This record gives sequence, structure tokens and C-alpha cells, in this order.
Amino acid sequence: VAELFYDADADLSIIQNRKVAVIGYGSQGHAHALSLRDSGVDVRVGLHEGSKSKTKAEEQGLRVVTPAEAAAEADVIMILVPDPIQAQVYEESIAPHLKDGDALFFGHGLNIRFGFIKPPAGVDVAMVAPKGPGHLVRRQYEEGRGVPCIAAVEQDATGKAFELALSYAKGIGGTRAGVIKTTFTEETETDLFGEQAVLCGGTAALVKAGFETLVEAGYQPEIAYFECLHELKLIVDLMYEGGLEKMRWSVSETAEWGDYVTGPRIITDQTKAEMKKVLAEIQDGTFARTWMDEYHGGLKKYNEYKTQDENHLLESTGKELRKLMSWVDDTDQ
Ligand code: NDP
Ligand code: MG
Ligand code: MG
Repeated sequence: VAELFYDADADLSIIQNRKVAVIGYGSQGHAHALSLRDSGVDVRVGLHEGSKSKTKAEEQGLRVVTPAEAAAEADVIMILVPDPIQAQVYEESIAPHLKDGDALFFGHGLNIRFGFIKPPAGVDVAMVAPKGPGHLVRRQYEEGRGVPCIAAVEQDATGKAFELALSYAKGIGGTRAGVIKTTFTEETETDLFGEQAVLCGGTAALVKAGFETLVEAGYQPEIAYFECLHELKLIVDLMYEGGLEKMRWSVSETAEWGDYVTGPRIITDQTKAEMKKVLAEIQDGTFARTWMDEYHGGLKKYNEYKTQDENHLLESTGKELRKLMSWVDDTDQ
């Protein structure tokens, strides 16, 4: 059973008495920096030369310096740049400024779990990861609420790393909702598995295969799009609100019967065996190594896959159909 921590379990003054550097000002970075600032914490943002987010951070009243300057000034350094470049930013700009007693924080455990970043022994290494996109994290904080976070300590040099992590989580509103204790290993492996097998990979492949099956059988792509992609939101919203039970309560009995008898014919024992292989490749580091090689090799396959799917009939069909739906916001792309 998970251990949960709330506002009363966290002491905000711990983080208020430190100097925090937030490196990166994207989805997570902006939410952490602004909310910590509003919680009375001394924050500076570290951004590289020519960063697109610099003006935004300054307009929002934050002091922006280089990542190296931020790391030198601060004693708590939160790394919120994209995962594949964290090791380089760490080597070049952060490692040279780490002193014993400093804390190195992450929003995701990949670089620590797979050894791409190896912090010195005198430094606390911890994670505070909100379980939601940064914009929701910030909005909830502003509304006096919070997004649940998970927190972990990989290296407890001071003996006080977890209290520090809880204090940081309080500063971004996390303890208002609840903070669950985890480990870098558990967070990293489950996060990668979830996005690959279920959330992104599994769902995208399921939607495409269903759409193709209908279109290849001669049905209109527009109808197939509605049935296999558009309506997925209604189903997921119900599951999100009340689990499988609420979804099954809401759909017709016919749909529910089809769910029971057909679901296991689609996601079979063979699918689950493959999921176990995927998990094993995440655990033994194969996935992380392959992804880093792909990223630093210029993203050739990545771009091939991307183009292939961008040209899929599912996508061109959806683009046209979404124009008919005034309430669907397609502008973030
Ligand atoms: P984003 O891609 O949204 O933002 C990255 C930021 O880093 C941008 O501000 C970018 O600047 C900046 N940046 C890029 N290169 C450098 C550099 N060399 N030095 C300093 N800053 C740089 O990242 P996310 O917020 O999505 O991810 C950050 C971390 O949070 C990751 O570890 C991720 O796994 C984790 N996380 C993300 C979640 C999410 O909701 N997105 C949820 C939970 C965890 P520029 O604007 O110039 O590109
Ligand atoms: Mg992830
Ligand atoms: Mg139907």
C-alpha cells in the first residue's frame, strides 16, 4: 500500500530557506518556477543561450540566468530540460558547481535510473514528479488546489532528502492533493511501460488497427474515424471518473457484452507475453540505450515513423472532421 503525504506532513520553510534553480522553462519548468516563487521560495531559472522560453519567464517576473550560473547560485537544482539532453546539461553546467549538501532534483527518473547522470556522493538526489502536465499543475496551484505528486529519494547524503522533497512538493501545491512515496526505479520503469504499452503506443496502435479494419472492409473513413478514435474520449472520460465500472454502467448492454467477449480476443495472452518482453527491455536498459542512440544519431527512424503516421488516412480524415466540431480545440499543434 502506498504511503501518502499531505500539507500537514510537509514543512514549507525548508525549501524557503534554500536557493532553488529550475533548469528549463517548458511544461514542467514554468509550473515549478512560478509556483515556488509564489510560495515564497528564492527561485532563478536556468536557460541556454537563445532559448525560446526566456522572454516568457522574464515577462512572468522570474530572473533568468544561464544554467551554469543558476547551478552556481543555488543549492537545490531541479533539472527540467528534455530527458535526452539532461546528461549533457548536467556535465557542462551543473556538475562543476555541485557542493556537498546540495540537492539535485528531477521530474522523471530516467537519467538516474539508467546511469546517464552519476551525481557525486555528497549530494542529495531526489524526485518530485507531478502526475499531470505542467499547465494543469500551475492552474491547480493558482486555484488553491494541487496535482498529486510522486516523490523519491535516490541518494540521501544529508539524511534529510525526503523532507526536502516534501517541502518542494508543498511549494508547487502537490501536498494539497497528496504525495505518494516511490523510488526512481519504480517511477521510471512504470512510466516508460505505461506510455509504451498502454497510453501512447498501445492506444495508437489499437485505434489505427480498428480504423484500417473498417476502411479495408469498405466502410467510409469518416464513419470509421468516429467509431475508432473520436468516441474513445467519451469512454476514457468515464473510466477516468469511475473506472471500468462507470464506463460499463454508461454504455449499452450490447456494448458491455461485446466488451466482455471481444476484448480478450483483441488483447490476447500473446499480447500480454509481448508486454512482459517490453517491460524486460525497459528494466534491463535496452530501451533507454536504444532511444538515446536514436536521439543522438539525429532521430532518423523517429522522423520516419512520424511522417508515416502523419500521412495515414486516419489523420487526414480526422483533420477534416474536426473542422465540423467547433468545440474541439486543435490549435496546439
Ligand atoms: P519541455 O520540453 O516542455 O521543456 C524543456 C525546457 O528546457 C524548455 O524551456 C527548453 O527551452 C529548455 N531547454 C532546452 N535545452 C536546454 C538547455 N540546454 N539548457 C537549459 N534549458 C534548456 O520539457 P517537459 O517540461 O515536458 O519535461 C521536463 C522534465 O519533466 C522531463 O524530465 C520530463 O520527463 C518530466 N515530466 C514532464 C511532464 C510533462 O507534463 N511534460 C510530466 C512529468 C514529468 P526552449 O523553450 O528554448 O526549447
Ligand atoms: Mg513519460
Ligand atoms: Mg457505437
